[in-house]
Amino acid sequence: MARNDHAAQFASLIGAANVLTEAADKAPYLVEWRDLYQGVTPMVLRPGSTAEVSAVLAHADANGLKIVPQGGNTGLVGGQIPVESGEEIVLSLGRMNRVRGIDPEGFTITVEAGVVLETLQREAEAVDRLFPLALGSQGSCQIGGNLSTNAGGTAVLAYGNTRELVLGLEVVLANGDVWNGLRALRKDNTGYDLKQLFIGAEGTLGVITAATLKLFPRPKKLEVAFVGLADPHAALALFSAAKAQAGPILTGFEVMPRVGLEFCLRHLAGARDPLAGEHAWYVLMELSSGTDAFPVRDLMEAILGEAFEKGLVEDAAFAESVAQAQAFWHIRHGMSEVQRYEGGSIKHDVSVPVASIPAFLDAAMVAVGAMVPGCRPVPFGHLGDGNIHFNVSQPVGADKEAYLARWDEMNALVHGIVHAFNGSISAEHGIGRLKRELLREVKSPLELDLMRRVKAAFDPNDTLNPGRVL
Ligand code: FAD
Repeated sequence: MARNDHAAQFASLIGAANVLTEAADKAPYLVEWRDLYQGVTPMVLRPGSTAEVSAVLAHADANGLKIVPQGGNTGLVGGQIPVESGEEIVLSLGRMNRVRGIDPEGFTITVEAGVVLETLQREAEAVDRLFPLALGSQGSCQIGGNLSTNAGGTAVLAYGNTRELVLGLEVVLANGDVWNGLRALRKDNTGYDLKQLFIGAEGTLGVITAATLKLFPRPKKLEVAFVGLADPHAALALFSAAKAQAGPILTGFEVMPRVGLEFCLRHLAGARDPLAGEHAWYVLMELSSGTDAFPVRDLMEAILGEAFEKGLVEDAAFAESVAQAQAFWHIRHGMSEVQRYEGGSIKHDVSVPVASIPAFLDAAMVAVGAMVPGCRPVPFGHLGDGNIHFNVSQPVGADKEAYLARWDEMNALVHGIVHAFNGSISAEHGIGRLKRELLREVKSPLELDLMRRVKAAFDPNDTLNPGRVL
């Protein structure tokens, strides 16, 4: 069948208006946030229902076509972008954006894959519940993408990764078969937990079309503090004290260096320094409780007061209103975006055991400074999960292209240090196209073989996201 015939066939399955073949219509689906990949595709398909996704995949699989599922296109490892050779078709889930049902009494919600994360959070709020997943990209990313990347974010500390928020999935397999696993059960030990295979599979095993997710009590009391401190050793000691005293009430613990705050003050609309003086490092700490009665503010003051007396904390600002709490989080969520205005940035999304974070940072910052004198490390992120975005901005005034040409060399250096600390080279962003070669270095031959066998069992014709992950 010729390309035009396939387009006509898809048009008959999902409607001509949902088969995009014009360059201008396809353009937004072919570029990504970091400008690392520029895709080429014959068409973008926009099915509106599970039955349509099934029909599309059945036709593609039977005809040797390659399909790249795409959600909000905020992925940071290139998995959602079709390859430059132009043979992959983009399958956008954006039209599948219905809330199928919400059960506040049972604390569950069932949504389609194309629901934007922020919309999902608001739907939960409207029935006095919390859907805790929170990312800097939440205004664009979709729950199908979050599930497929097993997204982390700022609430993992208290609620776990996306994987832990899922009760059931509906998935269309590569050959068009529909698996309805939309169960809302908290307990179900009936053999292999198949849904977990699709979560974090980055679209290589099936297309997620809907999910039943856990909801939680909405916090009634929330306290946020912006804390200045000398170094990551002090930040770890503060984390340990806060976790010991607050337990599950500690719902956020994010670390940022001064240079990252300065980038925000320069480039992020509405950003203001919450503290009067300058500090080398900052922590954003959040405590929240589902009951009105719990004295959250007293606990925050006690934790920080004690840390101040021990010399761990140099200064702290408490959010006195919801708007101020949002302003503190605005800085943290803006930390990724602002780096693009400071020239080239070489990224590492890594994790090490929580207690190793200060030693890892000490070693990695010295190493990258020796490799590129004048480079500006901006390590920030989820200290409480042991996950640091070890991003390194180019020296001021350096040539961006020449700096970025050293991406692999710097990755190898930093990942070597991560390895020495028994860490992971992809804590939350996944493997996609960007880290595929690295996966081979960190997984044993047996692990790689098992992964290939799973892929072959679910997608024997390599229809879905070929060349991603494996
Ligand atoms: P896409 O980018 O569209 O796709 C991602 C992958 O999932 C691709 O491989 C794609 O093929 C596959 N896929 C998408 N939808 C489906 C589906 N329905 N079925 C099967 N496969 C599918 N990530 C974190 O984990 N934590 C963070 O804190 C975080 N912060 C971020 C901040 C910013 C500013 C940005 C730009 C990104 C951030 N990310 C973060 C990365 C990104 O937002 C997440 O990976 C997100 O989960 C991707 O969702 P998406 O809908 O944009 O997916």
